[in-house]
Amino acid sequence: MAAELAAFGRELSDSGAAQVAGAFTDMPDADELIKASPNAFLLGVLFTQGVAAERAWAGPWLLRQRLGHLDLVRLADDREAVDAAICESPALHRFTHTVAGWISDAAARLLACYEGDASRIWEPGSSVAEVSERLSLFRGIGRKKAAMAVEILRRHFGIPLSGADEGTVAYDVHVRRVFLRSGLTLRDSPEEVRAAAAFAYPGSPGTLDLPAWLIGRQWCRPVVPRCEECRLGEVCPRRVWMNVEGVGARTGARVADVSRGA
Ligand code: SF4
Repeated sequence: MAAELAAFGRELSDSGAAQVAGAFTDMPDADELIKASPNAFLLGVLFTQGVAAERAWAGPWLLRQRLGHLDLVRLADDREAVDAAICESPALHRFTHTVAGWISDAAARLLACYEGDASRIWEPGSSVAEVSERLSLFRGIGRKKAAMAVEILRRHFGIPLSGADEGTVAYDVHVRRVFLRSGLTLRDSPEEVRAAAAFAYPGSPGTLDLPAWLIGRQWCRPVVPRCEECRLGEVCPRRVWMNVEGVGARTGARVADVSRGA
């Protein structure tokens, strides 16, 4: 299983991960902004909190539409405007005021520490650990989101970061779902998922992150998984009753319970 996942990861790298990875969101303009602007990417990371990924990554573009800009000075200084833009119906996020505050704080931090350019967070020569640490210093980005962002930077944008072999998978809903359903882990917790990645692919557990994330997004859907089309379809035990939000997620189902196609 891990070998198949890793093989998929290598294919993504070889063929240009950005193209294979497809879109962040189903809004082409919003997707283009995330791919073109490091600052918008950072704001997108802030939006990825308790909402569907497609909605989160559309956030920076929609915010720019409402404000008419993504100017960092104005985002930092005019907090009321940012808050009002996010709260305006339909709200741009589930946690409107919280995310608005994070965005204003992030803009201020980018200006103070990175000369207004988020790409300096992952400047050449940086390591996975350094970038993760820098991201974690932004309010609204914990270790989980930092790990997710680092893997996207590496795999999706091809940012070369040293120490990748020491990386791990992000504790992300898509990664967790694929790990559970494919039998790589039997329990859903940050420790179990990361330990499963380290056990399954000890040389470079982070390699499993992007392929698992993509499989979760594209095929291993929460309600109706598309196993017949899935890259892991031939080798996966298809424990489709397991879900990160569901009853089976924390029960530690026995390997003997696994039945293909159940
Ligand atoms: S084969 Fe099915 S259960 Fe397994 S990872 Fe793919 S979509 Fe998910």
